[in-house]
Amino acid sequence: MDTLVGEMEVTMPQDELTAVMMRVRETEKRFGIGPVGTEGLYRAVVPAAGVAEDRGTAPTFEEFRQQLSATAGTDFGAHSPRWLSRFGDTTRLAERYREGRVLLAGDAVHIHPPMGGQGLSLGVQDAFNLGWKLAGAVAGWAPADLLDTYQAERHPVAADVLNNSRAQMQLVATEPGPQAVRRLFAELMDFEEVRRHLISKIMGIAIRYDFGDPHPLVGRRLRDIALKRGRLFDLQHTGRALLLDQTGRLSVAGWADRVDHVVDVSEELEVPAVLLRPDGHVAWVGEDQASLLDRLPRWFGAATS
Ligand SMILES: Cc1cc2nc3c(=O)[nH]c(=O)nc-3n(C[C@H](O)[C@H](O)[C@H](O)COP(=O)(O)OP(=O)(O)OC[C@H]3O[C@@H](n4cnc5c(N)ncnc54)[C@H](O)[C@@H]3O)c2cc1C
Repeated sequence: MDTLVGEMEVTMPQDELTAVMMRVRETEKRFGIGPVGTEGLYRAVVPAAGVAEDRGTAPTFEEFRQQLSATAGTDFGAHSPRWLSRFGDTTRLAERYREGRVLLAGDAVHIHPPMGGQGLSLGVQDAFNLGWKLAGAVAGWAPADLLDTYQAERHPVAADVLNNSRAQMQLVATEPGPQAVRRLFAELMDFEEVRRHLISKIMGIAIRYDFGDPHPLVGRRLRDIALKRGRLFDLQHTGRALLLDQTGRLSVAGWADRVDHVVDVSEELEVPAVLLRPDGHVAWVGEDQASLLDRLPRWFGAATS
């Protein structure tokens, strides 16, 4: 099921355009048209319905206007197109993110319908997960299996995005069955817990990598908490790991070239200390130096003397 997308100018007044769009979208959710922020310019999406089925052929503006008319009963007086394109609803996920020295990230490893606008963030998160591991491998301190954790952590996240974007495609289908599911889904979204679950899924903030530690914070990305000296995210600009230590008793001696040690307190942090990987995910929580020393080599290799 392909969809056309493009930017163009229109002659129809904004109020009338909005009214037409709202009416059409009551039954066709794959249609939309609205201003993009540049004076007089509108972005439109409309079902492709057989237009230029060969992906190598771009849709013509005439075809685009025909699809607008067929779907909305008007072409909105569209003229002066800036660009025209198309996208599909294919979902594909590579089995392996790594083959030796070749590593895949972004759309090269997963594609899915653009529902919920998740693809770019998913790809950036891949890169964020991989970057520091690659740096560790290049610098020589990475543990032998560190690069393989990239696939273990990111593959399930992409699988979940593929699943939810595929489900969203079903919810915009015009057939009676999917429309009935959509109505039921809309009822469920009256529940706060359901809304929270879906929002955190689509925003990627519910991600918790499985590090084999049952503590609920471990594996999650720590949010931007307030510290005495400022905000946590400001301390992470170095791109290095970080031990945030509220006890003042811990040490990263032996790893100080890879791990920053910050002694500070936060009313928003309920654990004595937290070890963050460079991608912001929690690698350890606790207050015991022996336990910390046990965890540091897993992510940051051997101690240097
Ligand atoms: C209509 C639509 C709306 C979207 N909206 C959102 C949104 O709101 N939020 C969101 O997060 N995501 C959104 N996405 C998804 C997002 O656009 C993609 O997931 C993201 O652009 C993928 O980035 P990427 O760098 O992995 O791949 P790409 O953006 O495809 O970049 C790959 C680059 O590699 C280049 N390239 C390819 N082959 C070669 C080669 N052999 N040599 C050199 N260069 C090469 C290409 O020209 C391209 O520039 C949307 C997608 C669509 C289609």
